[in-house]
Amino acid sequence: MRIDILTIFPEMFPCVLDASILKRAQDKGLADIRVWNLRDWTTDRHKTTDDAPYGGGGGMVMKPEPIFAAVEDIRGEEEVPVILLTPQGRRFTQTVAEELTQQARLIFICGRYEGVDERVREHLVTDEISIGDYVLSGGELAAMVVVDAVVRLLPGALGYERAAAEDSHATGLLEGPHYTRPLLFRGWEVPEVLRSGHHARVAEWRRRQALKRTLERRPDLLATARLTEQDKRWLREMGYHGPFADDGVSQ
Ligand code: SAM
Repeated sequence: MRIDILTIFPEMFPCVLDASILKRAQDKGLADIRVWNLRDWTTDRHKTTDDAPYGGGGGMVMKPEPIFAAVEDIRGEEEVPVILLTPQGRRFTQTVAEELTQQARLIFICGRYEGVDERVREHLVTDEISIGDYVLSGGELAAMVVVDAVVRLLPGALGYERAAAEDSHATGLLEGPHYTRPLLFRGWEVPEVLRSGHHARVAEWRRRQALKRTLERRPDLLATARLTEQDKRWLREMGYHGPFADDGVSQ
């Protein structure tokens, strides 16, 4: 997958892109991530990328010309999704991350100041993504969040392939607890079942823990999660009285 990121602060990216899973994915050729400085597409001496808003008011607005020129140059003749990071976009979730992995290429536009000129959104952008209901100073951190969540899903990006499939949200549930050595730490012991070597018992314990944790922390997720009849029985035993995704659908 090729990912192009347009920003006026390219210096923000290396420490995130050049570490850990993102670095490994690039080294393995799974992701080709390129960060571009929008100022390289300006035509004036001062490399201006923003201007005062029409109609007055405070703040600056990112000019459309460098953004259009950069995207048109970078995508060439290809049809590439152009994603604007904006608090007004659709909410980023694991499902959206999975959806984006289906693309061969992605272009991200990082806004700054009051945001980008509306004509960018209307005539260039094909998707708008928000990483949450809060306002960041710029789209760079949001782009890093989205890129990280997408790239780690690419086949081969994680050392342990099943890890992504078991992560919180991948299954529609939160993941249960993890333990590592030492067995006894400050008097707190690792649950016996995890030491039993009995794979079926471990799997059942983990599934119950995931259900329990989701019920405790995010019961809203249970209404849409893909659950087995056994899961539902366990949840009812745990005191869940809410709906299930397939209520009313005969099995
Ligand atoms: N005035 C804008 C508004 O009210 O919608 C907010 C502009 S914000 C200060 C500057 C830039 O940060 C935005 O153009 C966007 O690229 C980025 N940004 C801020 N919050 C974001 C969020 N929750 N998700 C994605 N991008 C965000």
